[in-house]
Amino acid sequence: MCDSVCAVGVDLGGQSVKLAVVDDAGQILLRRKAAVDPSVSADRLTQLIVAEILAVCRDAEQNGLTPTAIGMVMPGYMNRDRTRILLAANLPSLNGTDFLASIRKAAPLPIVFDADSNGAALGEYRFGAGRGVERLIVAVVGTGIGAGVIIAGQVLRIWNHIAGSLGHVIVNAKGPACRCGGRGCVEALASGPALERQATELARAEPDSRLAALLAERGRLTGIEIGIALKGNDPPACRAVRECGWWLGAGVAAWSVIYRPEKVVIGGGLAALGEPLLAAVREGLAEVGQPASTAAVVIEGAALGPDAGVIGAAATAIMG
Ligand SMILES: [Zn+2]
Repeated sequence: MCDSVCAVGVDLGGQSVKLAVVDDAGQILLRRKAAVDPSVSADRLTQLIVAEILAVCRDAEQNGLTPTAIGMVMPGYMNRDRTRILLAANLPSLNGTDFLASIRKAAPLPIVFDADSNGAALGEYRFGAGRGVERLIVAVVGTGIGAGVIIAGQVLRIWNHIAGSLGHVIVNAKGPACRCGGRGCVEALASGPALERQATELARAEPDSRLAALLAERGRLTGIEIGIALKGNDPPACRAVRECGWWLGAGVAAWSVIYRPEKVVIGGGLAALGEPLLAAVREGLAEVGQPASTAAVVIEGAALGPDAGVIGAAATAIMG
């Protein structure tokens, strides 16, 4: 059944761990998911992840699949050779522990670890919107903004295991405080919480709008409500998305003078807003970017969708 090469992808987040067996065309052959309680000890988390890895390997065997390696991605910072977690923002009990070594020891196959943003970048490079792109940035825009940079098929690792904290590039030095302690970071202006804050302000200012009605009905505005209002061309929703996308475009302009990408792929939860968001990113980029480094940058939505995490994790196993 599995004539082609396949690998196990593990996407560890703050709320759940998703696992899948993925073939070398990026197709998911089987999957598992388990809830993660971020308040439990490192030992308990390790036991859970090991049990899930063993279970997915057993599922694979029962289905006639023979994965050859495991890739696991998670947010936060690791050391340069990806053997130790320095900061696991969403799973604080793992900070400074031997979590990765313990997982490696118990895993039945060779395992590689990487940042979730690097996994997303490798997934898009190998299977998605970044195929064949020599200089690629893949940004994951959700609660935060992370990005992976791929140059000639290699993940760029400048600071520890990542290309840098691209979400914390400052685009408005007099802008709002960022949760990182900096000010005016692209993440403070263009992430999910920034969009929700902006949309809520605009909804309150325009009580007759669809967005205001959704706010009254549901108590808060998330990407889902903003997406609904956006589809109906509701003016405050359009304005909030345009503003958020514009600042993301300013972030892309800043990244472009450093990395000179040919293409920037926008993924993560906010990418579901689709073309209106991408159009705003292009607009921001064109308005503030240095023409020499940004004129040819292609902005595109991610192709892998909600499975990007596990597919990207498997890509890290397949590509190293
Ligand atoms: Zn920041």
